[in-house]
Amino acid sequence: MLRIGGVAPFSTVDWPGKLACVAFLAGCPWRCPYCQNAALWSLEAGELTENDLFSLLEARRGLLDGVVFSGGEPLAQVEVIDAMRKAREMGFAIGLHTCGAFPERLKEALPYLDWVGLDVKAPWDAYDRVTRAASTGEKARTCLDMLLKAGVSLETRTTWHPALLSAGDIATIGRDLAARGVHNWAVQAYRSMGTTGELPDETVYPIDMPEGVGELFETFEFRRA
Ligand code: SF4
Repeated sequence: MLRIGGVAPFSTVDWPGKLACVAFLAGCPWRCPYCQNAALWSLEAGELTENDLFSLLEARRGLLDGVVFSGGEPLAQVEVIDAMRKAREMGFAIGLHTCGAFPERLKEALPYLDWVGLDVKAPWDAYDRVTRAASTGEKARTCLDMLLKAGVSLETRTTWHPALLSAGDIATIGRDLAARGVHNWAVQAYRSMGTTGELPDETVYPIDMPEGVGELFETFEFRRA
């Protein structure tokens, strides 16, 4: 049974250019200190089920472009693959927000995906510093390469807190993504709202971006909110 922490029935911000319903699934194996969904870390979290989601979708057929599976880390639950298939059969396009923790499950999801927002949290060899779990950079890099190879519409996103990533780290990430063939990258300035509050309340501004890195992308956005 799919466990869902909440559903946003209409969102214009979770899938750029689309009107989508967003389902926030329970479970995540990583522990980023800036997480805004710590309440969903446990696989047992979440009061809603797949039935609640599909009742809502049934009522919104023709009113929405798609469904975004978000979290937590939505691929933490094996049942998400079947839910994607069913939503697609109902005529919804499928979006996925993922941190890249489950390459094998992403492979299973690929046939159903129309768009992916992939977190790129750090230079690959410094990943565990942010995720506080083991061997995480390798998994995320495998997911990125898989998505690029499959040609799925993709946005990569990096959350930047100055205590976790230096401007040099941001430059390393940007150059690596551009070299791999990523076209869309967003840097999101840290926001304390909704976090566990364990990071110093500092943030970054567009002026902190290393010169020339955003220009390597077809679309680059520095997000403050
Ligand atoms: S990967 Fe995402 S959901 Fe998991 S801890 Fe990090 S920010 Fe939170």
